[in-house]
Amino acid sequence: MTQAKLIDGNAFSATLRDGIAARVHEIRDAHRIVPGLAVVLVGEDPASQVYVRNKHKRTVECGMNSFEHKLPAETGEAELLNLIKGLNDDPAVHGILVQLPLPGHMDAQKVIEAIRPDKDVDGFHPWNVGKLAAGGEGLIPCTPLGSMMLLRDWICVQSGGSLAGLKAVVVGRSNIVGKPMAHLLIRESCTVTVAHSRTRDLPAEVRAADIVVAAVGQPEMLRGDWIRPGATVIDVGINRIALPDGKTRLVGDVRFDEAVQVAGAITPVPGGVGPMTIACLLRNTLTACARLHRLDIPEARPWA
Ligand code: NDP
Repeated sequence: MTQAKLIDGNAFSATLRDGIAARVHEIRDAHRIVPGLAVVLVGEDPASQVYVRNKHKRTVECGMNSFEHKLPAETGEAELLNLIKGLNDDPAVHGILVQLPLPGHMDAQKVIEAIRPDKDVDGFHPWNVGKLAAGGEGLIPCTPLGSMMLLRDWICVQSGGSLAGLKAVVVGRSNIVGKPMAHLLIRESCTVTVAHSRTRDLPAEVRAADIVVAAVGQPEMLRGDWIRPGATVIDVGINRIALPDGKTRLVGDVRFDEAVQVAGAITPVPGGVGPMTIACLLRNTLTACARLHRLDIPEARPWA
């Protein structure tokens, strides 16, 4: 049986970051402006520390300013809100990201809503959520944005096709991945089904789709015989599973060895959607910087 084309998120994100770095240097030389990203980490969650370290590294690599604010877990909410107010007013800061999850005594939604919407590079502020739903120009959450870039590149650029009219199923309805992904697909004129834990006959919903976006957080849940032959599969899931020898391995939400025999194209885990998330964070920071300074650069538009 033929094997699906592997959609290479490592290569795509590296090209994206190179393009962003080139624009950052142009803006610096032409306008004396350096895009700046502020990342706020509260507490010592080990996974969050790794994410924040990687974001800092990539931000600096592409020539942007990186401002890190690490606060102890017992920091009061008022103190965090005060820091965000300072970042909102700071002209050197174009993007603000508060690493989630926050400690239990903080109201994450209140914190998100304290960020200026035009600096909200995570795209979680209700203003940006509304812009995405209503079709306006806000900032788009990074993981769905990266997933959409891979999808567009495969279907529209490499295959010379069109997304319009294709049937897409998004499995998962979180605010971070599932819902914004569904809105992006609607924008592209796909016919979109959003499935979740209460969906009846999930395999049948998946089988009907030309495009499958899996964002469930359940290791290898979507099986190969759920996939329509030739479909494009975007696996957003990142799950660490234990192996019998005591080691661990990263797997997606799709059973890759089965799906790769049936799909037309599929993102691997790792190396698919994962690396796109930070690249899109940098992209959103560049977009925010361009809009704040009224610079007309192609990267400030959604699909340049
Ligand atoms: P959430 O836990 O917030 O949402 C999971 C969604 O999947 C929910 O809508 C839930 O339904 C649905 N779901 C759970 N179990 C089932 C089931 N058995 N059948 C059908 N639907 C189900 O997860 P996220 O959206 O935050 O993340 C999803 C995955 O993406 C995770 O693996 C996560 O690690 C990964 N991820 C990867 C990123 C990246 O950078 N590549 C970034 C963010 C996330 P219901 O609403 O009914 O409960």
